[in-house]
Amino acid sequence: MRVLSVASEAAGLVKTGGLADVAAALPAALAAQGVEVTTFVPGYPAVLARLGKKAKAVHSWDALLGAPARLLAGKLGAHPLLVLDAPALFNREGGPYGDASGRDWDDNWRRFAALARAAADIAGGAAKGLAFDLVHAHDWQAGLLPAYLRLAPLAGGCIVPSVMTIHNMAFQGYFPAEVFPELGLPPSAWSVDGVESYGGVGFLKAGMQLADAITTVSPTYAGEIRSVEFGMGLEGLVLARSNRVHGILNGIDTMEWNPASDPHLAANFSVGKLAARVRNKRAVEAALGLTRDDGPLFVVISRLTWQKGMDVLSGVLDHLVGIGARLALLGTGDAEIEAAFGAAATRHPGRIGVRIGYHEPLAHLMQGGGDAILLPSRFEPCGLTQLYGLAYGCVPVVSRTGGLADTVIDANPAALAAGVATGVQMNAVSHNALALAVSRTVQLYGDKPQWKRLQKNAMKADFSWGASGAAYAALYRQLIEEQG
Ligand code: ADP
Repeated sequence: MRVLSVASEAAGLVKTGGLADVAAALPAALAAQGVEVTTFVPGYPAVLARLGKKAKAVHSWDALLGAPARLLAGKLGAHPLLVLDAPALFNREGGPYGDASGRDWDDNWRRFAALARAAADIAGGAAKGLAFDLVHAHDWQAGLLPAYLRLAPLAGGCIVPSVMTIHNMAFQGYFPAEVFPELGLPPSAWSVDGVESYGGVGFLKAGMQLADAITTVSPTYAGEIRSVEFGMGLEGLVLARSNRVHGILNGIDTMEWNPASDPHLAANFSVGKLAARVRNKRAVEAALGLTRDDGPLFVVISRLTWQKGMDVLSGVLDHLVGIGARLALLGTGDAEIEAAFGAAATRHPGRIGVRIGYHEPLAHLMQGGGDAILLPSRFEPCGLTQLYGLAYGCVPVVSRTGGLADTVIDANPAALAAGVATGVQMNAVSHNALALAVSRTVQLYGDKPQWKRLQKNAMKADFSWGASGAAYAALYRQLIEEQG
């Protein structure tokens, strides 16, 4: 079975969040199931640089959404990679979605419509020698792909089923109605059954409406998005298509994230050799300007946003320091939240260390040296950093929502007695609930044998791709069979 997986980022090429990790991990996860996944990404400068000059052009378009474009073939690790080289759309300094100041590009609708149109052409058989049995679209950036396949397929091309995966319902790719005539869709697509959404064009909505199956990245989130609070305007569509909605938990790439072999750690360790962790703790303290001590060290590796509850956390820091804990934070995001953490670091020198920025090696080191990782998210489709925390014995302290609820077992008396606890959960994201969760964690940390048990349970929990890869493969097979 050959699958074309279409995403706007993939770790190793370009990454702003969890989507990149998942897109990069799927090919290996599915290879184990007998599925060959070809990843298709836009040709941002960083991607073209990684691809190198030798990349072969395997197809071209004179005008893809108005822009000349070429299709380049390469490798993502051991797996096939296709890159859309359209300089007018993707050859820009800045991030994948906006300029260096973080402002979204005005023509994002055109950039990602072009990615989807190109994917639909490839799936239809436009590029000689490339054939696929199914397409897998990730997030709003690939959302128009099911729409093109259904409503404007390549003339004379083959028709393949599609899967639309929602990695985060908060990002829907919503654009004004004026862009519709430029998309190359038939007038009939302008309808509630097509790409229209609340008077504009909804890229994610289009994908959810027209894909053969919708998946999201945890079972709990798949249920939550049926409600107004989490569905963010698309809950009606989720309900209407609920027999087509599946929750499949993300796994982690155990090659990238393995404390026994991670090159970014000061000391490698494993469940049987936990004592070596302390060298990583010392390295984190040194990197973040924290005092050296054996008290509890919380870490945060996150976008600094409302979704992640970082505004609430910034208000709990005096309490955290007051009970003898320290915090090492790595992240970027909202200016106000960044400033609040900066101010806390100034108030509590040596106790709160803040690094504003994106730093992959430091993220690994912090998982290997922190005692507990905080994720007070208001919503969390899956969340990966708690999974990395589990694997590294950095005990996750999380809100009970989405994938966090599905992957962390709260250290309540019953779970402790049964020896199955892996972390700490809080019910709601409020100042008091978070302060209480931090206090509970510090108390647990104080009981050394118990803490060690918690760490070991966490490290033994299996969140590799095995089961989830099998679930995707089963879904693909079902859709291909249905289509006959
Ligand atoms: P989201 O995609 O919502 O941001 P996830 O938990 O799914 O959240 O994925 C976040 C990914 O980004 C993880 O791999 C995490 O380690 C990484 N990450 C987040 N912030 C940073 C940062 N400042 N530096 C390095 N890695 C980061």
